[in-house]
Amino acid sequence: VAVEVPREVSGSLAVQHTAWMVVNMLARLERVVGSVALSCPTDTLVAGRVSPLFGGASTLSDGILAGAGAIDTVPVGLGHSEADVCLIIGPGDAAAGAFRVYGEGWCGGVARSQPVAAGRSSSLPFGPYMAASFAVGEVFRHARMPTSAVPPVESVFYSLWSHSVGVTFIDDGPTAVDGVELDESLAGVGAVGCVCALCLWATDGVGGDLLLVDGDKDGVDVSNLNRYLLFGRPHVGMPKASTARTLLKNGPSAVRWRVHDGMMETAPGLHRRILCAVDTNIARNAVQSRWPETLLMASTNELRAEIVRCNPCNDGPCARCYNPPEAETPDAERRRRFLEASPDEQQAFADDAGVTIEEATAWARTGECGTSGERIRQVLGSVSQMESFAVPFASCAAGTMLAAEAVKETLAAPVPLSTERQRATVQFWRPAASVGAKPYRRDPQCPQCRPGSPAVELWNERVRHRTRG
Ligand SMILES: [Zn+2]
Repeated sequence: VAVEVPREVSGSLAVQHTAWMVVNMLARLERVVGSVALSCPTDTLVAGRVSPLFGGASTLSDGILAGAGAIDTVPVGLGHSEADVCLIIGPGDAAAGAFRVYGEGWCGGVARSQPVAAGRSSSLPFGPYMAASFAVGEVFRHARMPTSAVPPVESVFYSLWSHSVGVTFIDDGPTAVDGVELDESLAGVGAVGCVCALCLWATDGVGGDLLLVDGDKDGVDVSNLNRYLLFGRPHVGMPKASTARTLLKNGPSAVRWRVHDGMMETAPGLHRRILCAVDTNIARNAVQSRWPETLLMASTNELRAEIVRCNPCNDGPCARCYNPPEAETPDAERRRRFLEASPDEQQAFADDAGVTIEEATAWARTGECGTSGERIRQVLGSVSQMESFAVPFASCAAGTMLAAEAVKETLAAPVPLSTERQRATVQFWRPAASVGAKPYRRDPQCPQCRPGSPAVELWNERVRHRTRG
């Protein structure tokens, strides 16, 4: 993949956010991207808070190379080269066969072989991160999907201000925010949550308190690096929440970061406003059980990113709606399936996986996931679609949506998400067919937010109080 940052736009902070987020994702896409050739002036200075992984670099090219070095997965080097996909960052004239990747303010997108006109100048990271998500989505589809089935996009732009989708840049929303005082608990500092935290860190004019909560005892795992866009290889094995804070305390962000390396259930404080970025329904239920005044929930599903504004007004959803708790972990389910099989079936599973019956049985008993365990898991047919499509651009979009919505909520912005349009989705199969914001009513089967129950009465009261205040 060739990534070009033309000199005439390279000093723009929006272009720098876009360029970094594009390389940040490409550099993690092992087995999709062979290498990245970065064409960028070597004397352009870093224009603001772009990434903690830049270290102390003063120039954009040094910063991007330092960040790619911390990721240490796909080689990234300076120079021009023959490439399968060419991404040109920023607005400008049409370039045959190449994608222009442009984000500014609240809107971002890509256009192939077409000119892109510049919008109003802005330092906000929201549009740039969306542009990068679409661009890397195109690279992924180019590498992994037949173009006959899924043709590349001609152009798509998405505005996180109005949650609208178009074929040209959508220039809406304020170009800057000022005096935004957050008071949020961010539940989950994984794929979606770490992008949300990074995005809020990078937004000029955002301050206040942000409590980072993550209870994953294993911390950052090497298998997370493909989509944990805040972290690099040096952070493997470290706790997510406190490591995120250590990284984000660099740079003059006005946000006061607090941290809880534990479950949401054990996190101190009232959690009146929650940003939910957890990835299991059980954890979503735990978040809902706090009945916060505001609750924004972002998630991914295969190649789709979505955000829901949970709110009891107007028959709106809670975080438990349509999200029944998982009965068992998928792995436990696979092992149970093996142990309950007949000896003949077990032998057949083992043969298919190319392991001995002893190895397969040991895996099923202990759950120890060595090489043979991994193989037999696959044979048991349960490496889910979600796992195989755990891709960085969907979680980048979801985390960015969550950060942008948190800022909009604080500004009481007169645009969705709202009590009438509670949910927005972006999808990367056919990005231009993304639906944006739509009404999303509560799940009539949901036991947690049953109208009239004491908890929901309390929730109503809190939300009304918040709206009045
Ligand atoms: Zn519900």
